[in-house]
Amino acid sequence: MATGLTPDDLAFRDEVRSFLKKELPKDIHERWLESGKIFPDRNDAVRWQKILHARGWIAPNWPVEHGGAGWTTTQKYIFETETAAYGAPPVIPLGLRMVGPVIMKYGTDAQKAHFLPRILATDDYWCQGYSEPGSGSDLASLKTRAVKDGDDYIVNGSKIWTTHAQFADWMFCLVRTSEEPKRQNGITFLLIPMTTPGIEVRPIFTLGGHHEVNQVFLDDVRVPQSNRVGPEGEGWTVAKYLLEFERGGGFASGRIALNMARLKRLARVNGLDADPAFRRKLADLAIKAETIAISELRMLSKLGAGENPGADASIIKLRGSEVNQDVTELSVEAAGLLALPFEQLEQALGDNRASVVQTEAEAGVAPRYFNYRANTIFGGTSEVQRGILAKVSLGL
Ligand SMILES: Cc1cc2nc3c(=O)[nH]c(=O)nc-3n(C[C@H](O)[C@H](O)[C@H](O)COP(=O)(O)OP(=O)(O)OC[C@H]3O[C@@H](n4cnc5c(N)ncnc54)[C@H](O)[C@@H]3O)c2cc1C
Repeated sequence: MATGLTPDDLAFRDEVRSFLKKELPKDIHERWLESGKIFPDRNDAVRWQKILHARGWIAPNWPVEHGGAGWTTTQKYIFETETAAYGAPPVIPLGLRMVGPVIMKYGTDAQKAHFLPRILATDDYWCQGYSEPGSGSDLASLKTRAVKDGDDYIVNGSKIWTTHAQFADWMFCLVRTSEEPKRQNGITFLLIPMTTPGIEVRPIFTLGGHHEVNQVFLDDVRVPQSNRVGPEGEGWTVAKYLLEFERGGGFASGRIALNMARLKRLARVNGLDADPAFRRKLADLAIKAETIAISELRMLSKLGAGENPGADASIIKLRGSEVNQDVTELSVEAAGLLALPFEQLEQALGDNRASVVQTEAEAGVAPRYFNYRANTIFGGTSEVQRGILAKVSLGL
């Protein structure tokens, strides 16, 4: 991966590596390495993000005047892939990568002055209220209503799959403020404090056994009109701007590298690294991982030349999530029964439990496998990405 990097880039990579070694707290690092979750819980996320903030590295994509790092595109790529491959928890994107850029572009001066420093410092924790039961890929069909009442809106409806709503102080939310022949035209973008009376958060436990997503019910929730971002009825433009950051914001190869390293360790622990059939599967995955890294470098050179990532963002989202699924699937094969979470393993083995030791390499394997199934759903499903590629790349 170092190919093509300048001496300055390599020096920067070393600086990132030594920063991670010195500054990432050991307990957070260990918890994340063993975790099967999509994101760390609030406490670890906030602690780690405040360390990054103190170093000035929390918001590489923000303009320098708002607290961005002022890095080149290559430096951003190095930082992201190095931190993921090292096993540092990912920065929670909801504030920094999603609502932050939206407030920068569409917020009022008062909203910018209040929210941007708080997002940068992770003083507020955000969640995203876009999807509803029945409105996911077809987001413009959303039904949560907001009706004006004096200086406020009264909001009624329900949001679903809301990641970390149980931790959130604020939700950025799409609501319907009018019925229009073109559904996209009646949507408005609101910022809602999660402590507002009428909000109820109910957990949804994923197959991985974790509480990361929720259903959020809004029952006569009163939201000041001053919490609207952009004009009423123009929330779709704001929402689409945000989705560009959600879909195009990340590189996959760092996480793939981490999951591949885990898989290789697992293979060694279980003596599979000498098995020709297993080695073939590993080699196949290593080649796939390399193609993602090369696609990312290609996208990087486009971005560096001031071009739009175009279809590359969809290719990377699609293949990156699929390869991560393949790696976590082979990890389950390598771990066998020991892939199970500790408590389930105890139940499955009963009296024989004492004779079997679950190594660090095996911890979290099954939950990680289950959680990575969601990667091809959130941020735009694989079918939707293929539709985009058919249109943009193949001209169909
Ligand atoms: C772990 C996880 C976390 C999430 N976090 C959040 C969050 O924080 N906030 C939030 O708002 N949402 C969140 N989501 C919701 C996510 O954005 C939606 O699940 C996603 O957009 C798909 O919508 P849906 O679930 O309604 O499925 P649907 O859109 O109903 O899709 C069902 C199936 O039909 C296919 N399909 C749909 N449309 C097309 C099409 N045009 N062409 C071909 N096939 C199609 C899909 O690919 C899928 O296979 C999360 C989801 C998951 C799994």
